[in-house]
Amino acid sequence: MKAIAILGSTGSIGTQTLDIVAQYPDLFRVVGLAAGRNVAMLAEQIRQFRPEIVALCEAEKLPELQAAIAEVNPQPILLAGNEGVVEVARYGDAEIVVTGIVGCAGLLPTVAAIEAGKNIALANKETLIAGGPVVLPLIEKHGVKLFPADSEHSAIFQCLQGVPKSGLKRILLTASGGAFRDWPVEKLELVTVADALKHPNWSMGRKITVDSATLMNKGLEVIEAHFLFGMAYENIEIVIHPQSIIHSLIELQDTSVLAQLGWPDMRLPLLYALSYPERIHTDWERLDLVKAGDLTFKEPDHQKYPCMQLAYAAGRAGGSMPAVLNAANEQAVALFLAEKIRFLDIARCIETVCDRFTPQNRPTPSLDDIVAADLWAREEAMAVSQQLSN
Ligand code: MG
Repeated sequence: MKAIAILGSTGSIGTQTLDIVAQYPDLFRVVGLAAGRNVAMLAEQIRQFRPEIVALCEAEKLPELQAAIAEVNPQPILLAGNEGVVEVARYGDAEIVVTGIVGCAGLLPTVAAIEAGKNIALANKETLIAGGPVVLPLIEKHGVKLFPADSEHSAIFQCLQGVPKSGLKRILLTASGGAFRDWPVEKLELVTVADALKHPNWSMGRKITVDSATLMNKGLEVIEAHFLFGMAYENIEIVIHPQSIIHSLIELQDTSVLAQLGWPDMRLPLLYALSYPERIHTDWERLDLVKAGDLTFKEPDHQKYPCMQLAYAAGRAGGSMPAVLNAANEQAVALFLAEKIRFLDIARCIETVCDRFTPQNRPTPSLDDIVAADLWAREEAMAVSQQLSN
């Protein structure tokens, strides 16, 4: 039985991981859970999965959690705050840590898990996007494995099984095109929060759904693919594939192209990350190509989706620039969700923040540099947004 810890257990990745654990109680055992602030759901998860250690990020709500699980016996170790999350990440005999915390908040606990020798089921993009220059050497040093739990990177990872490193020529990331793929570019100025939250294919958290609408999600995935698979940016391409049936493709040196297909369901990459290299039988709906129908492809429209180019530029700039891009994006998306800025201001804000960071960027940042750049970019994004909304 594989012991697992889940960071972000009440979020979209966390709950889907627990669905898998509940389906395969003979294969997986939950030893640790960490969540942000959803006490009711976390208490329910504790009752069902009986973890040994639990952290609640929002410390003020700890008494509420204690009361909610008073009858659970034996009691788990209960911790609070970011330090508590870090403790769950490095706890005991967990073999694999699922990192489902959204945003840069997931970076430090993931680093702690790697340092404790845990394999990582990577659902937190920032670990590599912001932390890549620091995290990759750590992974090497501690001999741990990173299993991508994102559908695109999992697809690439699955296609790469048995391919020698020198055999890979190009990565093709597929993108659904998000909520506005059929909207003319002129209409995007008028987008509302409700519009942006209507994702056509995938059911995900709010932040990532907005990132899909701007295609920043895909831009961030380009940077992640660069770090995960050691691929140069000029060999990573994006193709719009509205049906989300092909989850990504690789081209090999001999021009052979391999793809991974399936219905859009996050549980599949999660299951493979947890069970690698095994292939577990499931009773999930099997892919029916006839039912899936036409699979179509389009070049992404850079005028409509400026965030893509911003991400490529930040990736190529390297150093802490991807961290800055990511933090500015998180802040700008939060402001958009709070109806403080307009949809198109998200890209404008990120571009200005990245431009202002250029003179400070160092080629080989430390973890402290990255965390500082992240904080700087958030403040800068707040200031820029205020100017944009005036
Ligand atoms: Mg994805």
